[in-house]
Amino acid sequence: MQCDKCRDDAVLFQSYSGRHLCGRHLMADIEIRAKRSIRAHRWMSSGDHIAVVISGDKKSGALLSFMKKLTADRRDIRLSAMPSGGAVSGKSARSAALKVAALLRIPCLGALSPDGSLATAQESITKIAQGLSLDDIAQGVLAQFLFGDAGRLVHPWPTGSSPFPVICPFIAVPSEELDLYWDCQGTGIDLVPGTPSREGLQKDINAFLEEYSPRHPATKFALLHLWEQLSKWNAATLPFTDTDGRDSGDGMHGMNRFCCGVTGRGS
Ligand SMILES: [Zn+2]
Repeated sequence: MQCDKCRDDAVLFQSYSGRHLCGRHLMADIEIRAKRSIRAHRWMSSGDHIAVVISGDKKSGALLSFMKKLTADRRDIRLSAMPSGGAVSGKSARSAALKVAALLRIPCLGALSPDGSLATAQESITKIAQGLSLDDIAQGVLAQFLFGDAGRLVHPWPTGSSPFPVICPFIAVPSEELDLYWDCQGTGIDLVPGTPSREGLQKDINAFLEEYSPRHPATKFALLHLWEQLSKWNAATLPFTDTDGRDSGDGMHGMNRFCCGVTGRGS
């Protein structure tokens, strides 16, 4: 099958847009959507030092690569890589993550521990970037909806102690496309694909969503938009108390908790 934008071979059929795309046009499409999410959420500003969490999977490799491209001409923004101790762990994953940072010539900071805190003080960091995908967000939102907790739907996860605001440029991009984004770089570094499987009720919810969404391709985007609208409009009106007794925060801190939950670092 050929790309709908050029004559090259297509690497993907985007069911929600009805288009076949080659690697080059898929990458361009992903970058447009990521930039749109960054603008819509005001996730980057002059003077930022952004630490990109790298966990040895294709999503985080894709994010580091994208962020390097995005900030290449921005002398007012500093980029670092930060190995994760979270969802994708183990020596080989860490080694692969470090290889990616070295390949892209991005300096590595101390590791992010499983509870979201930093092993060493990194005072100059202003934001942490996570490679969360559309699938991660949709699964998290649907789970909180089924758990029946309106407060946690807006502030989806109760724990997570990231000391910095968390940004997630890929929230409107499916995991499958992020895997291809990394593969299309042609680096030769073999990273693990996709979203790590989860256990219990979350596993059932993910299985349901994966079975349902091919017949209804807009479903995951609908869940993303639901979360974005609730976070923006109703964050202050729904009661929520964190497990450590703190009151609910603003939208950005809600995202912190959400990110910690869907990456397996929350409860
Ligand atoms: Zn093309």
